[in-house]
Amino acid sequence: MEEIIDFIKGAKHLVAFTGAGVSVLSGIKDFRGKNGLYKTMNAEKIFDLNVFMQDPSFYYTHAKDFVYNLDEKEPACTHRVLAKLEQKGYLKALITQNIDMLHQKAGNTKVLEVHGSATIHYCIKCGKEADKTDSFEKAKNGEVPRCKFCNGAIKPAITFFGESLPRKALDESIAEVRQADALMVLGSSLTVYPAAHLPAYTLENGGHIMIVNDMPTSFDQYATLKYNDLGTVFEYLEKMLNEERL
Ligand code: ZN
Repeated sequence: MEEIIDFIKGAKHLVAFTGAGVSVLSGIKDFRGKNGLYKTMNAEKIFDLNVFMQDPSFYYTHAKDFVYNLDEKEPACTHRVLAKLEQKGYLKALITQNIDMLHQKAGNTKVLEVHGSATIHYCIKCGKEADKTDSFEKAKNGEVPRCKFCNGAIKPAITFFGESLPRKALDESIAEVRQADALMVLGSSLTVYPAAHLPAYTLENGGHIMIVNDMPTSFDQYATLKYNDLGTVFEYLEKMLNEERL
């Protein structure tokens, strides 16, 4: 694993891309992983824009136990190490598919959320942003928050199926991976867009990628380094950081 240290230290523009796997250590269910949410419940329907437009209560009934309890979750060693790598000047940007805000909670400041954010809520009718506290309170009870201006249903700014990804975050992410001479892909199986495309930009420009994921990915054959267990890798990195060897 000493090679990881060289990978990080040798990078001029290090970027990280994270998927659900990095938050599993915080007790958050992975949607697509081995014990993923998609295996146990109809998550695709919960995050389907058409379903939401017809009946927003379906989302709020089901999301209260895995979206609206996220403020109770704590960053894991994966999040802590990535925050430390930014503070130390190694990590230039962090792109995440996660909506759990744990990277920000751990202290990362340059976070690009390509699947949107659960902290922002807005009205699907008039578009006005809703009060966060009020939206969360209602949602925690499984109720549909309503717009105080027009009574429209309030939707989280999470990207649902049938919606396009947040343009700005996506454009910035592509710019970052293009510029990256080293990209760490963490806890993502790289199956859905944009994850499935981002490492290609780094490789095209001659950059190197390192992958840590418990399942094979389509980029494994192009990876300079590949590990299966995030816990082992990040506990090692945390130890190196604590001992000032990184
Ligand atoms: Zn409204």
